[in-house]
Amino acid sequence: MLKLVFSSYRGHCLNTVAPRLRVKPDSNSLFDAVGRLTGLTRRSPTNSLSRAFFCSDSNDGSGSGSGSQPVVEVEVKGVESDSDGSDSKASSAIVPTYPRPEDYLTVLALPLPHRPLFPGFYMPIYVKDPKLLAALQESRKRQAPYAGAFLLKDESGTESSASSETEKSVYDIKGKELFNRLHEVGTLAQISSIQGDQVVLIGHRRLRITEMVSEDPLTVKVDHLKEKPYDKDDDVIKATSFEVISTLRDVLKTSSLWRDHVQTYSQHIGDFNFPRLADFGAAISGANKLQCQQVLEELDVHKRLQLTLELVKKEMEISKIQESIAKAIEEKISGEQRRYLLNEQLKAIKKELGLETDDKTALSAKFRERLEPNREKCPPHVLQVIEEELTKLQLLEASSSEFNVTRNYLDWLTVLPWGNYSDENFDVIQAQTILDEDHYGLADVKERILEFIAVGKLRGTSQGKIICLSGPPGVGKTSIGRSIARALNRKFFRFSVGGLSDVAEIKGHRRTYIGAMPGKMVQCLKNVGTENPLVLIDEIDKLGRGHAGDPASALLELLDPEQNANFLDHYLDVPIDLSKVLFVCTANVVDNIPNPLLDRMEVIAIAGYITDEKMHIARDYLEKTAREACGVKPEQVEVTDAALLGLIENYCREAGVRNLQKHIEKIYRKIALRLVREGSSNEPVMVQPADAEAEVVDESDHHAAANKADVEVETSVQVDTVQTNDQPKDPKDAADSKELQETEATKAVEKVVVDTSSLADFVGKPVFHAERIYDQTPVGVVMGLAWTAMGGSTLYIETTQIEQGEGKGALHLTGQLGDVMKESAQIAHTLARAILLDKEPANLYFANSKLHLHVPAGATPKDGPSAGCTMITSMLSLAMKKPVRKDLAMTGEVTLTGKILPIGGVKEKTIAAKRSEVRTIIFPAANRRDYDELAPNVTEGLDVHFVDDYSQIFSLAFEYDDNTMVN
Ligand code: ADP
Repeated sequence: MLKLVFSSYRGHCLNTVAPRLRVKPDSNSLFDAVGRLTGLTRRSPTNSLSRAFFCSDSNDGSGSGSGSQPVVEVEVKGVESDSDGSDSKASSAIVPTYPRPEDYLTVLALPLPHRPLFPGFYMPIYVKDPKLLAALQESRKRQAPYAGAFLLKDESGTESSASSETEKSVYDIKGKELFNRLHEVGTLAQISSIQGDQVVLIGHRRLRITEMVSEDPLTVKVDHLKEKPYDKDDDVIKATSFEVISTLRDVLKTSSLWRDHVQTYSQHIGDFNFPRLADFGAAISGANKLQCQQVLEELDVHKRLQLTLELVKKEMEISKIQESIAKAIEEKISGEQRRYLLNEQLKAIKKELGLETDDKTALSAKFRERLEPNREKCPPHVLQVIEEELTKLQLLEASSSEFNVTRNYLDWLTVLPWGNYSDENFDVIQAQTILDEDHYGLADVKERILEFIAVGKLRGTSQGKIICLSGPPGVGKTSIGRSIARALNRKFFRFSVGGLSDVAEIKGHRRTYIGAMPGKMVQCLKNVGTENPLVLIDEIDKLGRGHAGDPASALLELLDPEQNANFLDHYLDVPIDLSKVLFVCTANVVDNIPNPLLDRMEVIAIAGYITDEKMHIARDYLEKTAREACGVKPEQVEVTDAALLGLIENYCREAGVRNLQKHIEKIYRKIALRLVREGSSNEPVMVQPADAEAEVVDESDHHAAANKADVEVETSVQVDTVQTNDQPKDPKDAADSKELQETEATKAVEKVVVDTSSLADFVGKPVFHAERIYDQTPVGVVMGLAWTAMGGSTLYIETTQIEQGEGKGALHLTGQLGDVMKESAQIAHTLARAILLDKEPANLYFANSKLHLHVPAGATPKDGPSAGCTMITSMLSLAMKKPVRKDLAMTGEVTLTGKILPIGGVKEKTIAAKRSEVRTIIFPAANRRDYDELAPNVTEGLDVHFVDDYSQIFSLAFEYDDNTMVN
């Protein structure tokens, strides 16, 4: 710390410290001590350039060494022209013995701007005046290297302490002016060396200017001064000098930097005579130049000692203050250091214990580190919010609830993949391969995705789109979504909005709520780590309606390409760009999707699969995955085509294939069990040597064996053993043969064959018997075609008479019919009556009969207008007592005038009709276009009629006796 104080204290004069004086290490002398004292520690306010360095006896004539010229051994690095830096050749300023200093009565006058030069001290100065410099060099050459060094007086009006004159301006003063500015008393200085404009002086003895000799360079006549004679044994002088010595010693003691020199100093202190002691004290003190000049001018030894004592006492005081400052700062620093150390230790401990997250700085560092890779891509408004929150985090108390809120908020903000996109696949062929790999058929969906990729390729970027896949359950809506993501090389995220009623699920909670969370979309981005994932929103037709806000509207903001480039989550509170997200929604019934949402979607209907498609799916996809899932090898099992067909026709008739998948999995699970059972019962046989085998067979449980035989008979499973390995031809030795035998045994594969006869053993009794309840529909019964969320189906409409009597005409309805269907029945009743009146005017059946119309599967609620024509036909059949044509099914809404209006779900209804072995189907004429779009394998073998008026249906249904078919 002490160092710090000094360095700052010395700072202002560092730039001027030019020569680095180093006392030779082996010069075990007082010069050593003093040289270092002055060189290392100065608090001197004066420029160090002009600082004097103690060097030798000044030979002022009064000392013991009077007349002799001591050799001064001081290495002056970089100053001495002849110095080569080696100790042995340390440059020495050798003061020549002849001519003697006292012979110089006319000298060049060197102005000293900062401090007087004391006898026995070095002082480097800069001489800027070229003439003066030349004169100095000249005198050095002439073996007369002496000049007079005189302190410059401050200009009148300027403060002595604040030297306003720069070095340069000092040397600008010349001639008479300079002469007037010099103090009268100065020092005879030996010019030790000249290097460039730097001159090193060694002080010798005191001079007094008497007169000026020449102006440029200023040369003056001088008197050599001597101390006034004094009594060496004078007690007062002695006492004063001792006091100076002890004070100096104290100063050296208190200052730790000076402590090293105490020894040397005290060893040599005895060498001093009193006047030199006084000079020494004044020279090394930090006193200002006038005080020093006073000492220089004082010729009375006692007075000089007194002046010096004053200066060193002051030095002592400064030293004490310095010490106390140092101590105080040291205490402060060590306190801080201790704190720092403890903090570091605490951090390390927390890190070790995994508690590091609690630490604010660690937290901020964590967030910053997390943000760093994305910083450039992160939008500026987000960066700004993050920075603000980070600052806030630092200011908050770690235990406050606000802190936790901010921390969580920052956690979310920094974890999102700002500007991170996955490289999209724009290769149509590759995408097609992937789509085909995962799903059979679904040509519409696949085509749409390929279009999307093609557009992306041409434009260079892909835009977010909303595709809605609608269809019954199990047709692959969700799984194709996953497959699309794979084909596009986008990340996949699925969330279901079925029954979702809280807007916050989509838009997030405001941060002020406890346990607030961002919405699903933000969670999705965090999960997938890219900004262009494929998001599958499942069950969009089953959105709930919340008491607070409408989730559909929130979804609208999320999905709408016009709005979602700036989607604002309540929690996040900064807009996020969702325009690159590809949304795929799934729904069972498109009609249930809120209209504004539906409006923005591209709906692709997946109607369901016919038997043929299901066969393909089962063979190529479902069987494969089930086999792999159960660990069964392809060669171990065979499910015959007939069995598969039976499974599809009798167990899994619905539009989708999920149920089929379940059944296939069930079959394979059972096969796996069977294989394991067979395998384990074979195992001991396989690994035992031939003679031991007999034993095992003998000991084996007969009962178990019998049971096994029973099972085989019951299930009539054909179990063949297939050898995959040939017998070893020439086994070399016994060990080899045993090994081979084992390998052969483990490779023996049991093959389980599932055919129609064994199917029931695997999946139980068939669930579906024919959907047809009537082979030939009786009077009053007609087959209709319906469409539900589960796909198409056939249904009968039955009408019967309750009672008859004049004016009893009425209609009673059962079968869980909805309002629309009830109205349909009323319309049918009216229309049937009109038609009958038209066809058989005498027949008053409807007027006098109370009818009961029922739609079987009474437990299933039904609604919709498309059963209109079926109801009329059913009533007319009853009225005319004539059954309708065999294998006929129909669908169509009827108006009161008998016009047939179009219906929905043509494909599903066709598939259902085909499943029920219907040959003739009647569709509204307006649905012809839908029908024409169907694949040939769906329409194959069907006789379809398109009608726009009921009269055509009448002909088709009832006029078959004479075999005249109306088309
Ligand atoms: P959804 O979402 O329509 O209810 P899923 O996507 O869950 O139906 O599909 C159910 C199962 O049927 C999935 O395992 C899927 O792989 C399979 N699947 C459906 N359609 C096909 C198809 N065309 N090709 C192959 N597998 C299919």
